[in-house]
Amino acid sequence: MAKIENKFPGKDVSPDDLKTKIPLVANYSSKAFKVAGVTFNGKKIPVMAGPNMVESEELIVKTAKAVKKAGASFLRGGAFKPLSFPYRSKKYNESGLDGLKWLSVARKEASIPVITEIMESKYLDHMIDVADIMQIGSRNMQNYPLITDVASTGKPIMLKRHYGASLRDWLGAAEYALVAGCKHIILCERGMSVAHTHKSSSRYLLDLQVIPAIKELSSISVASDPSHATFWRDWVPSMSLASISAGADSIMIEVHPDPENAAVDPLQPINFKSFQGLMNQMDKTAKAVSRKIL
Ligand code: PEP
Ligand code: MN
Repeated sequence: MAKIENKFPGKDVSPDDLKTKIPLVANYSSKAFKVAGVTFNGKKIPVMAGPNMVESEELIVKTAKAVKKAGASFLRGGAFKPLSFPYRSKKYNESGLDGLKWLSVARKEASIPVITEIMESKYLDHMIDVADIMQIGSRNMQNYPLITDVASTGKPIMLKRHYGASLRDWLGAAEYALVAGCKHIILCERGMSVAHTHKSSSRYLLDLQVIPAIKELSSISVASDPSHATFWRDWVPSMSLASISAGADSIMIEVHPDPENAAVDPLQPINFKSFQGLMNQMDKTAKAVSRKIL
């Protein structure tokens, strides 16, 4: 019988993987770094907040001002969206290049840096001046050509974990970004697709254990996105606090002026008032782990 050369990879990261498969991830040393004047991995935990989708100029400018006032460091929002199903309506439609223009207005008017998702390399030129951080979404976590193209621009990247990916595969994708020259990368946990043990509306399960697991292997900055994970606004506050306790270095939260009427995923955003309250609560939790939010 032929000798099998390939070793079964398993789910966990081995000492050999650290040396041969993800050496840049393993040796990544970025204790603290700045993006658009905001320090990551310092004492203060940056919060990225905003709607799921950049629905209109009015909505994004209003939200930018509100989240900035509440203490957020970044405005989030997608002009290009990896929507799960292909059908569109007038309301449920990506704003695309218009959305990027509106984000740019909001960035300037509220004086807040922007994180937004890039789905296709062909839009890189349009993204470059608007996005202070380029988000590579869950569904593109293993789109290596996209990761490589975005990394080559030198822009900071936030790489969201695919909801079915092992930590090993996720770190492998991060290695692609580092190989291509990315200097600052943030890994964002956003929930795993597992059996719905809690509630049919909770689409994903926030894997908080992955935060200390990454920290055992690398000093890469880790973000948590409780909004996409829970898919349920009532659970966002507790999971945000839990993320901070687990060691998250930044938090992404969906905030919308009128959550029930959000064009995309209306069950998950919180309103401005709840966000302000949550910022104060998160600040208290952060202090218990020697960090702060405000
Ligand atoms: C988002 O952040 O808007 C998003 C689409 O997230 P994810 O890729 O985690 O689903
Ligand atoms: Mn989304």
